[in-house]
Amino acid sequence: MAEQKKQSYDVIVVGSGASGGWACKRLTEAGLKVALLEAGRPQSDKNFTEHKPAFELKFRNKAPEIIRKTRPIQLKFGVCNEYTYNWFVNDLEEPYTTPTDKPFNWMGRLRMTGGRTNVWGRVSLRFCDWDFKSASHDGYGEDWPLSYKDIEPYYDLVERYVGITGSAEGLEHLPDGQFLPPVPLTCQETIFRNRVKEKLGRTVMPARTANLTKPINGRGPCHFCGPCERGCMTHSYFNSAFTTVADALATGNCTLISNAMAYKVLMDAERNRARGVLYVDRVTRQPREISAHVVILCAQSQESVRILLNSATPQYSNGLANSSGVLGHYLTAHVRSGGGSGEFPALGAKASLGAPIKPLGIYIARFRNLRNEPPYKKFLRGFGYEGESSTKFNWGAPGFGEAYKTALREPRTSIDITGFGEVLPRWDNFVELDPHVKDVYGIPVLKIHMSDGENERAMIQDMGDSAGEMLEAAGAKNIRTYAHPSAPRWALHEAGIARMGSDPKKTVLNQFQQTHDIKNLFVMDASGFTSNPCQNPTLTIMSLAVRSCDYLMSEMKRNSI
Ligand SMILES: Cc1cc2nc3c(=O)[nH]c(=O)nc-3n(C[C@H](O)[C@H](O)[C@H](O)COP(=O)(O)OP(=O)(O)OC[C@H]3O[C@@H](n4cnc5c(N)ncnc54)[C@H](O)[C@@H]3O)c2cc1C
Ligand code: SF4
Repeated sequence: MAEQKKQSYDVIVVGSGASGGWACKRLTEAGLKVALLEAGRPQSDKNFTEHKPAFELKFRNKAPEIIRKTRPIQLKFGVCNEYTYNWFVNDLEEPYTTPTDKPFNWMGRLRMTGGRTNVWGRVSLRFCDWDFKSASHDGYGEDWPLSYKDIEPYYDLVERYVGITGSAEGLEHLPDGQFLPPVPLTCQETIFRNRVKEKLGRTVMPARTANLTKPINGRGPCHFCGPCERGCMTHSYFNSAFTTVADALATGNCTLISNAMAYKVLMDAERNRARGVLYVDRVTRQPREISAHVVILCAQSQESVRILLNSATPQYSNGLANSSGVLGHYLTAHVRSGGGSGEFPALGAKASLGAPIKPLGIYIARFRNLRNEPPYKKFLRGFGYEGESSTKFNWGAPGFGEAYKTALREPRTSIDITGFGEVLPRWDNFVELDPHVKDVYGIPVLKIHMSDGENERAMIQDMGDSAGEMLEAAGAKNIRTYAHPSAPRWALHEAGIARMGSDPKKTVLNQFQQTHDIKNLFVMDASGFTSNPCQNPTLTIMSLAVRSCDYLMSEMKRNSI
């Protein structure tokens, strides 16, 4: 078996997305030598197509059948389209399985430098102590082994670098951050915000997203072209490929090894230490080994846990670092299948095919089960909403000729809101290796067991009902609401299958995402989340990764790792 060129690395980081990018940046800027193993291809500005019209594409972005042949799961989320599909995993080459009665769409599996941050929605929200200590408040599950004050300086640091547009709202349960100026609300968003506050006391705000409204580190402000998921030549949204990873490479201390599919962590059994990683070169399909002093997995929750399960040894027969037996369990995501839409007067706005497109809309802060309020009877925890307004031509207008042309130009102005709700961590939502299926590289794949519980079902119903209530309070017309079962379509925020905690018997990682069992092995993506609050996870993923890297470096200085 080939050994990667005989360079010695301090750290191997597996995965170059939100968490891996930050780990590489933090460690290499401090002088450590890092090998970054990334299963995908290198990303480049040349691949970005945000300004390319569909008529320049071979199939005009109108032939999903072409994409379905290789990416039937990835295609289910609109960001995988003719512009971007070859950034995504080939579902046939790298499958996963589910029990027949529990379908699960594992979407957003990227195979490019930058991982999911190439196509993410960029909504960036802080967690708070109400989230970290939720078990103490309502008795369900476990508290996180850290508090808001532990992570707050890292939120500040990450936000200043990433660039988050947003408005300070002074909410205890959704802390303000280091915001760039907010993108103004549209007229109908302003009406909605004001009336919902006035009549229901709920807070509607400009979405807090990783889109620049001021230049940062040579990245230009957003010019409102719209489709960030196709890349951005001015680097105006946050994508690890052209930010954290680029910074790490610029130090000269980071070696990016692309097309490197990590298979397992290699162990020195006698010393109970990770000694490196075995990976498969996706181009040659040859296995290769690489060694380092420390191994950090940042491959996204399911992918990192798959690596740990595939790394079983005689000492750790049910998966590496799994003396607790909880590795793979407590899979959570977000439910996002309740919401609604309504129409508002256009207030002079005209539909246009060439107008600037805001790449972000509104966010409605959680309003159920807050501190100093009686517990909501129907479910635990809560949800927020993402939403957006639009002013479109009335394509469905009846008639023909001049009358039709006039009616077509009569704008349809609406607001859509979608709930994003916390899924309770449950033992019986879990991943394991499927003993019968391997991917094209010969690596055993995951079997994912995930379904809604009572709490999620009640929450989804409330997402639909409350959407209707708010749209009505705001005076919307033609209100439509929905509340579907969540499975098999989940929000792309999976977390929790190598959970953090102070008790090694009940958890896999400590508060610094270091495995309890093996000192020089860390998992710095969302698999460490002890619970999965309704706020989008990535800002917290990145902030925790920086915090854990600082801990790692201080331990290395003390020779404790
Ligand atoms: C369409 C979409 C919209 C989203 N919107 C939001 C949002 O608005 N707000 C928010 O907070 N979050 C959002 N997310 C989620 C967000 O993108 C993720 O939380 C975040 O990127 C996870 O970071 P990560 O480092 O764990 O993994 P990723 O960013 O996915 O990076 C993992 C990397 O590891 C690589 N990898 C995987 N397996 C291996 C292996 N075996 N060997 C080597 N490399 C491997 C992958 O190729 C990938 O590059 C969205 C995601 C998607 C897909
Ligand atoms: S909308 Fe803004 S951030 Fe998105 S691609 Fe266009 S310029 Fe870049």
